[in-house]
Amino acid sequence: MSKLTDIGYIKSVLGRNGFTFSKALGQNFLVDPEVCPKMARLCGADDCTGVIEIGPGAGVLTNELALVSRKVVAVELDKRLLPVLAETLAEHDNVKVINGDVMKLDLHKLIEDEFAGMDVVICANLPYYITSPIIMKLLEDRLPVKAITVMVQKEAADRICASPGTRESGAISAAVHYYSEPNKLFAVPKTSFIPSPKVDSAVIRLDVREEPPVSTDDEKLFFRVVKAAFLQRRKTLSNSLSAGLSIPKAKTSEILIQAGIAGNARAEEMTMEQFAAITAAVQQMENL
Ligand code: SAM
Repeated sequence: MSKLTDIGYIKSVLGRNGFTFSKALGQNFLVDPEVCPKMARLCGADDCTGVIEIGPGAGVLTNELALVSRKVVAVELDKRLLPVLAETLAEHDNVKVINGDVMKLDLHKLIEDEFAGMDVVICANLPYYITSPIIMKLLEDRLPVKAITVMVQKEAADRICASPGTRESGAISAAVHYYSEPNKLFAVPKTSFIPSPKVDSAVIRLDVREEPPVSTDDEKLFFRVVKAAFLQRRKTLSNSLSAGLSIPKAKTSEILIQAGIAGNARAEEMTMEQFAAITAAVQQMENL
């Protein structure tokens, strides 16, 4: 068992370095001895694979990733953690810590510079204040990675993994399904962290697709349609599209007829194919 899940040890390392937890940076550190080995085992890492970790914290997951992969590059925003990580990861010569904001980093360049000739996966216990923007950046950047395994709040995991066309689905479900095949791996109770967050978590893996599951001539418009559809999820699709795309209601009704969709349908009932059909109908209308 790693000493990094020993609360006494971790508190003494953090204390010695004058570290105090920042809520604003989503700092809840894992102390459950089973979670990180399991994440490292299920994320697709092996001795031919490089791993990008986001937010190593005190290095508990980084340590497990270093044991199973060829190389780990961990991106940590909080520079107060750098001396902590230097101490906790001292025994690994295949780990590099970069001080930076994952939202601002050029991850294509990082992969080119650090992982030449390796397969690459991403594995992280994400800071909750910024879960969806990070996931969307990782997918939209179309990084050459095989899979993205992340711990997120349980509700976010449910929403992200929900199939479009089901009640739990939202704009993020459609976007994530466009780029990847999401799967829930396992649940993690809030008691697995210090400090303990208010809600439980879950680990999900997004297997990155080579091709999207539906084809559209205008990807940007597809995502505008999805966002607009869910903008007012209690309203009918026709109303939401009208408000979200700034198109008169009479036109959105025509668009839905053209796409073969009932006038009283709601966004959560739409499959990926139906979103693609709406996109094609909007495009056709715009070209008239
Ligand atoms: N991996 C550690 C663990 O499981 O115990 C810590 C996870 S903690 C939920 C999230 C980590 O992400 C923190 O260390 C925090 O400082 C870092 N972080 C927050 N925002 C970040 C950002 N924009 N870029 C990189 N790291 C960030």
